[in-house]
Parts: sequence; structure tokens; C-alpha cells
Amino acid sequence: MANNKQPDSREPYVVAIDGPSAAGKSTVAKLVAARLGIDYIDTGAMYRAVALAALREEEVGEAAAEIGALVSGLVIDQADGRTLLNGEDVTDKIRAAACTKRASQVSQLPEVRRELVALQRAIGAHRSVVMDGRDIASNVFPDARYKFFITATPEERARRRTLEMKEKGLPCSYDEVFADIEKRDWDDANRALNPLVQAPDAVLIVTDGLGVEEVLEKVLEYIVNP
Ligand code: C5P
Repeated sequence: MANNKQPDSREPYVVAIDGPSAAGKSTVAKLVAARLGIDYIDTGAMYRAVALAALREEEVGEAAAEIGALVSGLVIDQADGRTLLNGEDVTDKIRAAACTKRASQVSQLPEVRRELVALQRAIGAHRSVVMDGRDIASNVFPDARYKFFITATPEERARRRTLEMKEKGLPCSYDEVFADIEKRDWDDANRALNPLVQAPDAVLIVTDGLGVEEVLEKVLEYIVNP
């Protein structure tokens, strides 16, 4: 363990962690939050919850205006590592492949981003949080006290994700996972609104060849000795 010092917590602060899909952000973000004794907010899960609601509303289809109307009527909460949609625990349901695909689509809609970014800012306004996503340091909290960009090569991310799926008993091929990662990278980096980008003042951590504990220590070391 590198250190036990904590940042000054008299003022609420945000630890913003961005990066592409399957880079291991959420695993590290959860551990950082636990070590700092603050909440972890998974913004990807919020986009996934909107996707689940959209999938459930057959009449919503792909129409931006209708999904926009839908999102403003949703109550999305996160507590104790669970994601709630209108009070229903949807933590596991939002991990389904159909939801992953739809999340990528709904996250491009201005109405959806406007609502969720406002929700994320409200959450981080009065309490300290570790928040991960694609645009947290660059857009949601450009003044976050700590900013990280965690990434790995697409090959490494595909290798890890394939292993993870197999361990969960969900067989998949490396080639399929690799193609999916490349597509999501492209969609995330090229969408018109709030694309995935490393904030100029974010600390870059490339995790190829690093274990979770090593990444965690790098993040904590920077937080204690910025
Ligand atoms: O991180 P995760 O895979 O759960 O994200 C689900 C979807 O939400 C992705 O398609 C991603 O592009 C989108 N997303 C986003 N902005 C964020 C977090 C996630 O557009 N801050």
C-alpha cells in the first residue's frame, strides 16, 4: 500500500476518470472511491438505464425527440453500487448486449446528454465523488480537482474483456469483442456532442501490462502528491 493520506475533504471534490470502453476504469474507480471513503458514480450505467427504458418503450423507436421526452421523465439513481431506474434495481439488466448497443445510440442524442450531464453535475455539486465515463473531465466537471484518462490498446482491452466474459460463462470470440471495441471507440471519439477526449490536464495512465492494484496505486499516488 503506497500511502494512507487522504485529500482535504472539507470541500467536496470530484475525481474524474475517463477512457474508452473496457479499459478497466470502473474497477479502478470503485477501488479509488472505497479507499477515499467517497461515493462512486458510474455514468455509463446512467446511459445504459436510458437505453433500457427506450428498449422497453416500443413506441419510442429511434426518434430523438421521443427519447428526449422519455429521458426527462425518468428517475435514475445510484446507491451502494446499484443502479435504479424509477426505483427498480436494473444493475444487471443494463449489462445485456442489447442495452450496450442501444446505450451507444442514446448517448449521442443531445436531449439525453443534457439531462444526464445535469444529473451528474447535481450529484457532484455537494458531495465528493469518483465519477467515471467518457466526458467527465472534459465536459461534466472541467474544474474537477483530479482528472485521469485510463486507457489500454484495443488488443489488450479485447483480451481482458474476452477473458472476463468466459469467466462469467458467456462464451465469445476475441475477434468479435475486438470488432465491438473498435466500433465503440470510433463512435465515442467521433460523436458530435461531448466526444471521448483526454482533457489536456488529465493524467494519462496506459494500463497495458499493469494489474488493477498497480493502476490503483498510480491514481492514489497522484491524488496524494498531485
Ligand atoms: O461505460 P459504458 O460502456 O457502461 O457506457 C455505456 C455507453 O454510454 C457507451 O456507449 C458510452 O459511449 C456512453 N457514455 C457516454 N458518456 C459517458 C459515459 C458513457 O456517452 N460519460
